[in-house]
Amino acid sequence: SQTLSQRVAQVPASMTLVIAAKGKAMQAEGIDVCSFSAGEPDFPTPQHIVEAAKRALDEGKTRYGPAAGELQLREAIAQKLQTDNQLDVSPQQIQVTNGGKQAIYNAITALINPGDEVIIPAPYWVSYPEMVKLAEGVPVILPTSAESNYKITPEQLKGAITERTKLFVLNSPSNPTGMVYSPAEIRALAQVVLDHNLWVLSDEIYEKLLYDDAEHLSIGSVSPELGDRTITCSGFAKAYSMTGWRLGYLAAPLPLIKATSTLQSHSTSNVCTFAQFGAISALRDPKSRDCIEQMRQAFDKRRQYMYDRLSQLPGTSVVKPKGAFYMYVNISKLGLPSYEFCERLLEEHHVAAIPGIAFGTDDCFRLSYATDLASVEKGLDRLETFVQGIN
Ligand code: PLP
Repeated sequence: SQTLSQRVAQVPASMTLVIAAKGKAMQAEGIDVCSFSAGEPDFPTPQHIVEAAKRALDEGKTRYGPAAGELQLREAIAQKLQTDNQLDVSPQQIQVTNGGKQAIYNAITALINPGDEVIIPAPYWVSYPEMVKLAEGVPVILPTSAESNYKITPEQLKGAITERTKLFVLNSPSNPTGMVYSPAEIRALAQVVLDHNLWVLSDEIYEKLLYDDAEHLSIGSVSPELGDRTITCSGFAKAYSMTGWRLGYLAAPLPLIKATSTLQSHSTSNVCTFAQFGAISALRDPKSRDCIEQMRQAFDKRRQYMYDRLSQLPGTSVVKPKGAFYMYVNISKLGLPSYEFCERLLEEHHVAAIPGIAFGTDDCFRLSYATDLASVEKGLDRLETFVQGIN
């Protein structure tokens, strides 16, 4: 009989990581690779957060803790969600997880039965459909396009609902498109969710990275009824430049948090204890606000620069993103599938980017601008040379 379980065997390796790994291998060989593949800020973690974790180590915060997380951190998260997001949650409704990724995995595993349908707008973050499949659910992908600013409409959502639909996954600001739903758009989607008694998983990990006039509204705050059907997932990686710390959380109705805490107690247990004390400082120390703002402004500069150049590149088109740190570039006029485009871009021009097929759309590729401006300039020069050669 087959060695691997069917559940695991059906899940492909993350394509994001394949190209990124290839780029890193080329770099290790001494090749000067411009990398636009990373989903992580290029800044160090702010010093006060590092100091807080060091202090926790010195104080012996090196033991097992509660599976749901340190109470102090759950309190700080609940307060943050109340103040920043108008979510009415208690510390008991928070679970601390190993990154935003585990928060989403926990939520999907706790909610989805075999055959349950989960609505996911495309382009989507790579792991959503795979997590649904691991739970033996059925991902139902809703396509979007540049014309709709890569957003779904309430009618589209309504049209995709069947009696098997359990969950709707919303990611705003979005990875990979950088699109941000306006508060009015969020409210309109919320109404559909309520009308059909769905659950909504709101992945808000990029909420602090907003540009121009973009505003973030947490869908769970729209009404108390909706709050009872919403799982808000987030993490510290993107806003605080803490990718390697593996710190995230979910906020949800109490029975769900009890279930996800049980689940986590049988898989990973608590998140690294002293790391959680870094997270407390990230939320509680007023210094964090300036740190986030400085990083946001640096991202914004790169975004403007990258957009100005890409919008002049014949054969490609791009919608100006309003959040996160990605640009999603359409290459349908160039006639190359996204994987081949990115493979050649890397091998022939030493620029690493992620093919759109990884996010469910084969006519685009993703550039991350979480990289310094000098590399952005050099990488775009190379991209231009490549695209002009194809045109
Ligand atoms: N959600 C989205 C949309 C992401 O882009 C990422 C990371 O790339 C995550 C969740 C998970 O982040 P982490 O597990 O590093 O906190």
